Amino acid sequence: MTRLSPLNADLHCHSVVSDGTLSPEVLAERAHANGVHLWALTDHDELGGQARALAAARALGMDYLSGVEISVTWMGQTIHIVGLGIDAAHVGILEGLRRTREGRSNRAKLMAEQLLKVGISGAYEGALHFAGNHDLISRTHFARFLVEQGVCRDTEHVFKNYLIEDKPGFVPHLWASLDDAVAWIKAAGGVAVIAHPGRYSLNDLQMDELFKHFKEIGGLGIEVITGSHSPDQYQTYGKIAQHYGFMASRGSDFHDPDESHIDLGRLPHLPDHLTPIWSALQV
Ligand code: AMP
Ligand code: MN
Ligand code: MN
Ligand code: MN
Repeated sequence: MTRLSPLNADLHCHSVVSDGTLSPEVLAERAHANGVHLWALTDHDELGGQARALAAARALGMDYLSGVEISVTWMGQTIHIVGLGIDAAHVGILEGLRRTREGRSNRAKLMAEQLLKVGISGAYEGALHFAGNHDLISRTHFARFLVEQGVCRDTEHVFKNYLIEDKPGFVPHLWASLDDAVAWIKAAGGVAVIAHPGRYSLNDLQMDELFKHFKEIGGLGIEVITGSHSPDQYQTYGKIAQHYGFMASRGSDFHDPDESHIDLGRLPHLPDHLTPIWSALQV
């Protein structure tokens, strides 16, 4: 692929197959209309939208990488690992993701029980109503239900007041291990990237350990330019990518036109001195 202008790659977003609100086809059209050249749909723990996303991208003449965002528990915290360029029919990753999704329904029922204690009833059914994929009921669906009920004015406030640690609707959950997630991605022929490293509640020492361990087990990149980072964090994680020898990724983490601050493809370009993650992939 040769281009004179910087490549507009958006390698992180969500459809109704996880906690986004648009179909893979509508996302593809939106990405294309926003000037995206290389796109990846990265639903949480789920590959069910990949065939549709690929077909839609192809029909629009847009390059596509199969993707996923895997929920991982590391040092007692949830972190997200993006897999790019995977074979979406690989049985190993399909089975691993199926197991990762398994606990979601039970967690959702426990969340609803907790919310009932603070006077919010019907949250399980309410959240399920917002979930396009009943195997993938997520905190985001609870957030949309609570906004609909008038409990909070937007999903940001629901998370802050109800759905994060030490708040009434939070239920701790054990996701996949980091080693398993990276192994599934590699076995499926893809590359593993740490999603939005600026978002985790890990201290500097723990982050250092995360980067070193991730590198040791074959992780290749980190997200530098993401809708989840502030401009200051673009600088910080650009330096971290260089320091640890990681390739850099770029993605909006788009979920919904009203909820997401950054639209598909509408982010700053990767700084020139960083190696883009797509240079490791056959596009
Ligand atoms: P889950 O995988 O069910 O725990 O849900 C995680 C999802 O919740 C993330 O992928 C985001 O889409 C969303 N999320 C997490 N924290 C926030 C927040 N502070 N504000 C809005 N959405 C959030
Ligand atoms: Mn999400
Ligand atoms: Mn994430
Ligand atoms: Mn995401």
